[in-house]
Amino acid sequence: MRMTSLLVQTLRDDPAEAELVSHKLLLRAGYVRRVGPGVYSWLPLGLAVLRRVEEIIREEMTAIGAQEVLLPAMIPREIFERSGRWADYGDALFRLKDRRGVDYLLGPTHEELFTLMVKGECSSYKDLPLSLFQIQTKFRDEARPRAGVLRGREFLMKDSYSFDVDDDGLERSYRAHRDAYERIFRRLGLDYRIVSAVSGAMGGSASEEFIAPADGGEDTFVACSNCDYAANAEAVELAVVMPSDVNHPPSVVMDTPDTPTISTLVERLASMGFDRTLGAADTLKNVVVKTRPPGTDSWSLLVVGVPGDREVDMKRLGAQLEPIEVAPAEGADLESVPGLVRGYIGPQRLAELGVRYLVDPLVAEGSSWVTGANEPGRHAIDVVRGRDFQPDGEIGAVEVRDGDRCARCGGLLRIARGIELGHVFQLGRKYAQAFGLDVTGPDGRALTVTMGSYGIGVSRAVAAIAEQTADGSGLRWPASVAPADVHLVVTGKGDEPYEHAEALAGQLQDLGLRVLYDDRVGPSAGVKFADSELLGIPVVVVAGRGLAQGVIEVRERWSGTRSDVPLGEASRRIAEIVAGRPAVSG
Ligand code: ATP
Ligand code: MG
Repeated sequence: MRMTSLLVQTLRDDPAEAELVSHKLLLRAGYVRRVGPGVYSWLPLGLAVLRRVEEIIREEMTAIGAQEVLLPAMIPREIFERSGRWADYGDALFRLKDRRGVDYLLGPTHEELFTLMVKGECSSYKDLPLSLFQIQTKFRDEARPRAGVLRGREFLMKDSYSFDVDDDGLERSYRAHRDAYERIFRRLGLDYRIVSAVSGAMGGSASEEFIAPADGGEDTFVACSNCDYAANAEAVELAVVMPSDVNHPPSVVMDTPDTPTISTLVERLASMGFDRTLGAADTLKNVVVKTRPPGTDSWSLLVVGVPGDREVDMKRLGAQLEPIEVAPAEGADLESVPGLVRGYIGPQRLAELGVRYLVDPLVAEGSSWVTGANEPGRHAIDVVRGRDFQPDGEIGAVEVRDGDRCARCGGLLRIARGIELGHVFQLGRKYAQAFGLDVTGPDGRALTVTMGSYGIGVSRAVAAIAEQTADGSGLRWPASVAPADVHLVVTGKGDEPYEHAEALAGQLQDLGLRVLYDDRVGPSAGVKFADSELLGIPVVVVAGRGLAQGVIEVRERWSGTRSDVPLGEASRRIAEIVAGRPAVSG
């Protein structure tokens, strides 16, 4: 690869469209280019990284016995109707019509097609277990396609699916994938955490995500500082303090004029002369939201009860209610139920009003609260769950806070941001049932197959690696995915340095190294060095000033170490340095 002919234009300044480090650098280094919102092209250097990531994933999937296939992106509507996802997927699904007016969609994930493929090919328990995978382009009409290839609307995913006859088999396939994912992310040089995830309406049981810690990530996860519990904030379980006092006084309604918010209420309570202090944490906040089943237009109200010192995390709520859609209720929505008094809503009458009521588990059975009395300017005290109100159910809804307590061990939970790299998921029999995927068992009777589904964002992984490894000067690829092994930079005047470099490039290539050769004559040494740091090849070789003393300089992008190497030994020494570099960054 010669810089004079390679399709690469580096940019000096950060593009205005980019916020994240990875996005800025991949654009500046000429790895990717934006075509539209969430739609990107890969240039030669970017594609080289993408392909290497793909190859590592392919090797590890093949090593656990998964077989590669390739399914279409374009899927007839009828197939997604059968799983219910034509409606459930909502606005994120790209839909299109052919010339006859027949509906199609562009696959956001492929559970349906894989189920059908196995149904078509397998008929006996002897055909299973089976794991299939593909590395294929997915389409999702993401609401906020920022962050470049990290969240594309068209992106590359490795998706695999396992097919087993029983739960033990599924457990084994899940384990094999989980272990393969660990090997993949280690080889990619990524720092990652495995966290529990929301299983959601997919109906599965075990579900875990691989998250790359990164401040710019869109996922929030918690990790216990004492035990090994870690979870996506959407799925976190917090320790609940069970009420010790069971003899609560009867509930009393009191006048609390002008207290429509928690802070005004707490101020008023302080001036009312109770024999105990009542803070925000003693109040029950009832947040009104609206929900609608997928594919319908009818919203209904839902009230969510959380301790008054907490906020409702709408993303978390949404993840758990999926595919049901949830949105904040507006004034007009509240007015549709006359019994709901804004600012003074309490759970006592919700059942009577026909409004569904869910509480966060922190609002424990037997706990006592100050809450609205459903009359303007009035609240009730000593309102006890199980005695004065009965919620319709529980839902993890509070925004988790750093320092919250772990449900397993009581330790302190720490919050961090990260990028979801992959997801392993025990789907169970939902799709097998929808499509009638049965096989004949040993006794001749039909068995419904149980499935797992496992995804890795391949294009996202490129951005995640960039995000985690870049420094102030540019990209810094781990050797395992770098677009070249050596970046050879010539500086100085006249033909001589170029002749030496040319010869060295040939020798390196003969040793099997992939060389990016900066043979440009115009740019200054400073520009070339800056470009080499931006492009992020792990080993940079400088043929320039040192040539007069018969040496070339070897710079290691990771450590910043520089050493002079005699020209005569250069190719051998460089090959050693390249080989000696750990596959993993750090
Ligand atoms: P997210 O919560 O980030 O939207 P998801 O939970 O919808 O992701 P999955 O359906 O589990 O993602 O897809 C499997 C993998 O595909 C994810 O773990 C992620 O790495 C990748 N992925 C998902 N959406 C995108 C996207 N819009 N762009 C790039 N990669 C994506
Ligand atoms: Mg996921």
